[in-house]
Amino acid sequence: MTSEVVKYTQEQVDEIVLTAVVRATGKVNGQPVHIHKCTNGHAWFCASPYCEDVTDNPVKACENHGGKPPILRGMGRP
Ligand SMILES: [Zn+2]
Ligand SMILES: [Zn+2]
Repeated sequence: MTSEVVKYTQEQVDEIVLTAVVRATGKVNGQPVHIHKCTNGHAWFCASPYCEDVTDNPVKACENHGGKPPILRGMGRP
């Protein structure tokens, strides 16, 4: 029997932890957020109050992969 240790990068660990926190509380740093699925395949979190219902359409590219920056409260009208 060989025991293999699965190694995660810090980025992956952050995403796993953050995903668990958001699933449990719906918040990050006290801000309500929701989960989008990037067209690139990873999950990301969005604090925009102006998003459409993400349960119907969770796929949305993040800023790093060609998406538009989320519109946050206090940034003015879209
Ligand atoms: Zn959103
Ligand atoms: Zn992305």
